[in-house]
Amino acid sequence: MCRSRRGATLTAREHELSKFDTSRVPDAMSHPLFAEGFRTRPWWWEAAEPAARPAELPDHVQVAVIGGGYAGLSAALTLARLGHRPVVLDAGRIGWGASSRNGGMVSGGLKLASAELAKAHGAERAAAIARDAAASFPFIEELIARERIDCDYTRCGRFAAAWTPAHYRAQAQRAASIEQATGLPASMLPRDRQREALGSDHYHGGLLAAATGSLHPGKYARGLAEAAASAGATLVDSTQVGGIARNGSGFLLQTQRGRLHADAVLVTTNGYTLGARGGTPMPWLARRLIPVGSYIIATETLPTGTIDRLFPGRRMISDTKRVLNYFRPSPDGTRILWGGRASFGPTTPEAAAPVLHGFMTAVFPELKSLRITHAWTGNVAFTFDFLPHLGTQDGIHYAAGCQGSGVAMASFLGHRAGLRIAGAENETFALADLPFPTAPTYRGRPWFLPLVGGWYRLRDRLERIAA
Ligand SMILES: Cc1cc2nc3c(=O)[nH]c(=O)nc-3n(C[C@H](O)[C@H](O)[C@H](O)COP(=O)(O)OP(=O)(O)OC[C@H]3O[C@@H](n4cnc5c(N)ncnc54)[C@H](O)[C@@H]3O)c2cc1C
Repeated sequence: MCRSRRGATLTAREHELSKFDTSRVPDAMSHPLFAEGFRTRPWWWEAAEPAARPAELPDHVQVAVIGGGYAGLSAALTLARLGHRPVVLDAGRIGWGASSRNGGMVSGGLKLASAELAKAHGAERAAAIARDAAASFPFIEELIARERIDCDYTRCGRFAAAWTPAHYRAQAQRAASIEQATGLPASMLPRDRQREALGSDHYHGGLLAAATGSLHPGKYARGLAEAAASAGATLVDSTQVGGIARNGSGFLLQTQRGRLHADAVLVTTNGYTLGARGGTPMPWLARRLIPVGSYIIATETLPTGTIDRLFPGRRMISDTKRVLNYFRPSPDGTRILWGGRASFGPTTPEAAAPVLHGFMTAVFPELKSLRITHAWTGNVAFTFDFLPHLGTQDGIHYAAGCQGSGVAMASFLGHRAGLRIAGAENETFALADLPFPTAPTYRGRPWFLPLVGGWYRLRDRLERIAA
């Protein structure tokens, strides 16, 4: 037992979990933009904080899933539905990672343009990869409906706002292929009609895509966890896996709570694969993932009329900058959630919050005095080829690398990994077993991010000046 700063007595387990609670703001920290009670934890957690799931650590499991985000939970759900008994282990609480921290924008597809994809994989394989990636969107819609996950899901569409006229022209060239890939309308909205989608003149028009939804990520993570648990999966929190070793035909997992034997292992640790202290359950995977911090603020409540004027149609909004902004109204239509890469170096949510507020007021100058109630961060995982990956290395399965767009994709990859482990794949999956590149000497710490991020920012600025 030990004493918290609030004087309450904590059990050893609660003490362990409290390491993941970033809501305690130092008294010294204040800023005129911070509302009273400002918190450095996801606003989503006010309605759906990841729940504690006390469970004994079993001695032997059929399938150990390391990482309790959308990918791990979706894999566990699929495995359990196929009659397996998976155990999901998470270092924090189940759903603690990006899966309860994201913007809740739901879309399929890839970050890579089709020409680059074809150059790397050939036209035929590229088309199959694009088709299978697009399938993540109908997959998540069906999953939410089938499992009756109460997560405020709505197919609201997206407005991708063009940063420059050249970006607008490039979007116009892609609209038809987006429509073809998604089977749903994608159309251009010129600058003089932009206010039909966004209450701002900051951009140069943009693309309206119907194949996008929105959800409450905390509620989705919680609902997916409940679906997996009721299907027969065991969810175990506060159990960091330090290493995986071969043990006969199975594996031996070293965890902070003891050892565990597993017949099969799936690693879904994504942007947290390399721990803060440099440990990782799968060094091979850590060398292929680039963890990047993304930051979000939530504002004070606004009158409904203001939200509807700024977000007519209440769509999800992102822009076409290299260092992009993504923003949306909250599911209850009361406040704005604004996300972006406030920094490419190590920083804190309280330092990132005024930067994001600045990005927000560049788009909505009338919100200059609107204060921030919450600011938080989470890690996404990029890959060197900008593709998500699913595969098997040294007998260990992995699914990771959604490039910051993983609500649908991580859920889908997890499902596909579950089918693969259960031996229940009845069709090929073009994203599986792709070559998974790394870079010489790279060990999972992206020292180059501030350089690359600075270069991207500069190019954004120069392109805008030239526009
Ligand atoms: C701020 C932010 C905004 C985003 N916005 C969007 C968006 O609007 N739309 C969208 O599509 N995507 C978005 N994303 C990306 C999306 O959230 C992720 O792609 C998705 O949640 C990844 O799910 P996952 O299961 O792969 O990983 P995670 O949810 O990150 O889960 C990984 C888990 O592994 C656990 N773990 C790590 N190491 C160990 C270990 N050694 N032992 C045990 N457990 C371990 C962690 O505790 C964590 O819970 C956003 C992400 C962030 C951070």
